[in-house]
Amino acid sequence: MNNARIIPIARMVRTTLPPGRDLAAPPEGELVDRRGRRVRDLRISVTDRCNFRCVYCMPKEVFDDDYAFLPRKQLLSFEEIVRVAKIFVDQGVEKIRITGGEPLLRRHLENLIEQLARLPVEITLTTNGSLLAKKAQALKDAGLDRVTVSLDGMDDVVFKRMNDVDFPVGDVLAGIAAAAAVGLAPVKINCAVKRGTNDDQILPLARHFRHSGHILRFIEYMDVGSSNGWRMDEVLPSAEILARIHAEFPLEAIDANYPGEVAERWRYRDGGGEIGVISSVTQAFCSSCTRIRLSTEGQLYTCLFAQSGHDLRALLRQGAGDEALRREIAAVWRDRDDRYSEIRTAATVMPAAKKVEMSYIGG
Ligand code: SAM
Ligand code: SF4
Ligand code: SF4
Repeated sequence: MNNARIIPIARMVRTTLPPGRDLAAPPEGELVDRRGRRVRDLRISVTDRCNFRCVYCMPKEVFDDDYAFLPRKQLLSFEEIVRVAKIFVDQGVEKIRITGGEPLLRRHLENLIEQLARLPVEITLTTNGSLLAKKAQALKDAGLDRVTVSLDGMDDVVFKRMNDVDFPVGDVLAGIAAAAAVGLAPVKINCAVKRGTNDDQILPLARHFRHSGHILRFIEYMDVGSSNGWRMDEVLPSAEILARIHAEFPLEAIDANYPGEVAERWRYRDGGGEIGVISSVTQAFCSSCTRIRLSTEGQLYTCLFAQSGHDLRALLRQGAGDEALRREIAAVWRDRDDRYSEIRTAATVMPAAKKVEMSYIGG
């Protein structure tokens, strides 16, 4: 590809939210952190286990037969999760995402979704899609609104190399089709791009999902956790991802759906649908970060790169009342000052041993 095509689209990539889309000043009395950000999205990890061993997330050499996953009694129960979620919703959370590990491995997950769906929030789930064909209908019936499926390649050989458990791409595609058929739509497809490993899959994925009604998004490979051996030169900047697609299918930018949306939205000029890029490394979006994460064992993390959490499970199991929990959650959010991706440089990348794993905290 010649550079002449890369440069114009690289310039089109936004470095800030589009005009009029910046975070509005919060109403007085609303819960804001030290950088004026509101809490809007709660991500709940329901298991630290997974049936895949994606090379960038749970490399086999680390997550092997001897790896100490959390014992069952350390996991938050559904009752505990729902209690915490309700308090978050009272504090302004509008969207709950269920994640993991692989969330569909958690037994009776539909029961949790059914209870969460009674709250006035959108409920979504991120999954590797391996069990989706079987579970899509039950998830929909339980009240799940939408689903995001991770898919790191179209080619079976590359996909199997990425998941490292020989899982065929056809079964994930069947899961995506099942989700769309039961109305868990629009289905979002997330591809984490690792330069030199699966970046040759960008165009095949784009070709496959054009005109499908699904929204394909590419995520820059991040330095989460301490086991994936992350290197900056394995990050393919989203400007380059866009340039590659743009060279075959011309693109144009579209506005964010809401302030603080993580994915930058684009559409094919010929009406082939929408795609997105999540530039977690090259264009940090910390200034509009409204996310908080509840780990499988009830630790609250205010940043994907936080070095430690806040122990809500201890409070829950000591018999704390809702008001005490509310005060703790509010105090954690008010004290939040995180902006890891904004200040990350090759020199500041955190020492590996200090970071929490993506499969533990959820994406
Ligand atoms: N197992 C589910 C799945 O794969 O969708 C949910 C959990 S997984 C941790 C959530 C998302 O994080 C996936 O889309 C995955 O590709 C992404 N992810 C994991 N490690 C990553 C990394 N180092 N950089 C970028 N994305 C990553
Ligand atoms: Fe499992 Fe998701 Fe991590 Fe892959 S990205 S190993 S599917 S938790
Ligand atoms: Fe939010 Fe932390 Fe990611 Fe910045 S680095 S966007 S503060 S989770």
